Amino acid sequence: MVKGKNRAKEDRNLTPMLAQYHKIKDEYPDALVLYRLGDFYEMFYEDAYIGAKDLNIVLTKKRVGKNKEIPMCGIPYHSADGYISRLVSKGHKVAICEQLEDASQSKGIVKRDVIRVITPGTYFDNEKFKSSLLAIYNSRGNYAIAYLDLSTGDFLGGLLDIDELISFIGKFQPKEIVIPKGLQLEKIKENFKSIHISELPDDYFDNEAQRELLKYFNTAHISGFGFQIGEEIILAPLSALLKYARITQKSFLPFITKPKPYREDLYIRLDYSAQKHLEVIYSNEGNISLYKVIDRTLTGMGKRRLKFLLLHPLKDINQIKERQEAVEELIKDKKLRGNIRDILNNIFDIERLVSKVSSNTLTPRDFVALRESLKNVQKLKALENNVKSKILKDIFSKIEDYTWLVDKLERYLEDNPPIHLKEGGLIKKGVNKDLDELKEIKDKGKDWVRTYQDELRRETGIQSLKIGFNKVMGYYIEITKPNLRFVPDYFRRRQTLSNSERFITEKLQRFEEKILSADEKIKALEYEIFMGLREEVSLLSARIGETAKAIGMLDALQSLAQISVEKNWVKPELTEGYTIDIQEGYHPVIKEFSEDFTPNSLKMNEKSYFHIITGPNMAGKSTFIRQMAIIILLAHTGSFIPAEEGKIGIVDGIFTRIGSGDALARGLSTFMVEMLEMANIINNATSKSFIVLDEVGRGTSTYDGLSIAWAISEYLANKLKVRTLFATHYHELTKLEQEIEGVKNFHMHVDEEGEKIRFLYKVMEGFTNKSYGIHVAELAGLKKEIINRANEILKHFEENQNKNLKDIDISESLTEKNKKELKQFSKEFKKDSTKTNSFNEDLKSEQDLKNDNSEQLPLFKNLEKNTKYEEIIKEIESLDIATLTPLEALIKLNELKTRLK
Ligand code: ADP
Ligand code: MG
Repeated sequence: MVKGKNRAKEDRNLTPMLAQYHKIKDEYPDALVLYRLGDFYEMFYEDAYIGAKDLNIVLTKKRVGKNKEIPMCGIPYHSADGYISRLVSKGHKVAICEQLEDASQSKGIVKRDVIRVITPGTYFDNEKFKSSLLAIYNSRGNYAIAYLDLSTGDFLGGLLDIDELISFIGKFQPKEIVIPKGLQLEKIKENFKSIHISELPDDYFDNEAQRELLKYFNTAHISGFGFQIGEEIILAPLSALLKYARITQKSFLPFITKPKPYREDLYIRLDYSAQKHLEVIYSNEGNISLYKVIDRTLTGMGKRRLKFLLLHPLKDINQIKERQEAVEELIKDKKLRGNIRDILNNIFDIERLVSKVSSNTLTPRDFVALRESLKNVQKLKALENNVKSKILKDIFSKIEDYTWLVDKLERYLEDNPPIHLKEGGLIKKGVNKDLDELKEIKDKGKDWVRTYQDELRRETGIQSLKIGFNKVMGYYIEITKPNLRFVPDYFRRRQTLSNSERFITEKLQRFEEKILSADEKIKALEYEIFMGLREEVSLLSARIGETAKAIGMLDALQSLAQISVEKNWVKPELTEGYTIDIQEGYHPVIKEFSEDFTPNSLKMNEKSYFHIITGPNMAGKSTFIRQMAIIILLAHTGSFIPAEEGKIGIVDGIFTRIGSGDALARGLSTFMVEMLEMANIINNATSKSFIVLDEVGRGTSTYDGLSIAWAISEYLANKLKVRTLFATHYHELTKLEQEIEGVKNFHMHVDEEGEKIRFLYKVMEGFTNKSYGIHVAELAGLKKEIINRANEILKHFEENQNKNLKDIDISESLTEKNKKELKQFSKEFKKDSTKTNSFNEDLKSEQDLKNDNSEQLPLFKNLEKNTKYEEIIKEIESLDIATLTPLEALIKLNELKTRLK
């Protein structure tokens, strides 16, 4: 590395190109500089090594000066986008250094400069990359944040606590976070491994930067953005993002909307783990998300809006009802929905197009796409009088009719322009007199050439005389060898070919100059007119952007209507009460892929709100509890729901704790993750929330887990009285039903016919203590011999159900054959019940097992000898779980654990 740098320095003066390169590279030391050379972007020195490695392309050498070669790798200019997105997604900053003048016209070295720096959060060109930026600024323990999406111009600011911040990042998925130097973000890094974090100098956040922000948006005070007095701190992250965007995009900043407040309090809480576990927008590997299955939008704006709606279920019952009304109208008025869908189908992503208008990525074709879309906006606007509901009326009033702009663009713009701006062919006839005249000169030029050719033929008598043109030579008169003697004196020789010679005359030369300059002028003038149009449209960006947003909302609502029609969803009745009554609901995603899905109902009220659901593995517990959470979520977005009937007392948050997910990959122990998620639930849930718990306590040994699950249940059911579905394999928990009013047991029904059992996926009242684990093992193909033996052992356990586990002597029923296996089992069980999952302990007991030569041990007898264990058992027994807070329980647990070591 150092060697490379030294070499770079001494190379500096070898060639003018290298001098230019180094000067530019010096300005962007932390970026990969893509240096435009003809049809390629080249990287040199260290950049070349990185580029070649990360793009998997060949590292070559470039000769510079006499005996020198420097490392280089290059990507073709016309397919640069894919390469750039790979570099950016690996977290690199990429500085695009362009040629700023035509190589053929420059004297000396072509002028070059960086036109843009692309970072993970500012790469708005590529729709698939979904780039966006988040700035975080510390505000007395909470966070002032700003969010900017350069592809749509969305710009938000807000004040969030740490859990809200994590939830926000989950919802908006920014690719890059910018922070002031030294801000600690451990919890965020833990949750979002792939986000790139850039530290920025203080002058991005300071007063000067804030003044620039206010100036940029022509506002005197933060209240101009809709923030409240006292929220001034939000200016810091907002100004950092604006400055970062301006510096990276240079002069071509895409359109950015005025910052808007992001108000968490309008929406019910949907914490990050609920977003993940319910697979609302993004699914876990191999699954399909809710959004994917129900998306019926037809535009890019609609897709973004639908995602937003699903991640931001509303809190206010009146707002939900208003939206419901709009969805209902679109469901019932088939013709209206049909018309809207037909039109939306022909509208491009106006939001992105408008945002592009002021950036330097706009192509003439984008402009045509915008024109065609605006034409369809006219058609949409014409439907305004057909809508009745408040929300739809409101949406249509925000859709502006741009007839005059469409007319203008129609008059100005060619229908099939080239991709590039400077090649001409953009502007129609009749727009500009000068342009028309120049085009006429060019057109007439052809006639003139023919006439002149005839004239020369007559004059020289050479019938084969031809006037031709090529790019290198320009115009020429071609005479074949035999006719050379007829050539008049005033012809000047230009080129000799094998069979002919080429000449020019003064008249032809003058004509050539005129034509060529006409062509140049045409291109320049067309470019100028196009830029004028662009300027005009960019002044309208904010207004067209509003229209685009309204169309996005319309699209999202028609999508909700369309899916309801397709799947026969029903309108839920929403109340401010506590009752939830969902009849025959189903999981919209699982149902999509399974032919005979069994629907289930859920009834909750003041007397029955904490439901413990037991049942064997694979019986459908997880599916049931998630489907209910999804139905409740959908109801709060204003959507209809996948059920036969639904009455829903609205909630203020949906919380989940499901499975272990990717916890291991994140390096935290499963149990720790569980407890972190539980802590989030316990800190934020209220009696108005809805909680889904799946197998809480599983990440630790049986007794720890059970105790925690018990304590948590008591807290939620007794203290918070929060509506909860708890799927568990701890049958002991079903005893809570007798202790707390509101706790009710349910189980997944299993049909038994003799030996055979069948899962019916039906939720029934009461509990089951059969786990059919042996049955599942049998289905999995475990040896018959083992299955039979397991059944024997199970029977023995069941017969001794009332005895303490450790008093049962299983060895009574042992056959010699199984002795060895059972001994192992005994050890395993001992490990499980006496010790925590400390690796040292595990190792020790494995050692014990090896050294243990004694004959078969009576099961569990060993435990009694362990006095330390006895003490601890006693202590656990004496704990009053009813009065312990979860935190106290954790502290106690930790203490017991330490004592065991
Ligand atoms: P559990 O959590 O009890 O182990 P799951 O909810 O994971 O069970 O369900 C196991 C499988 O059973 C699912 O993958 C699904 O295919 C099927 N299943 C679950 N619920 C139903 C249902 N209501 N109707 C039909 N099949 C279901
Ligand atoms: Mg499950």
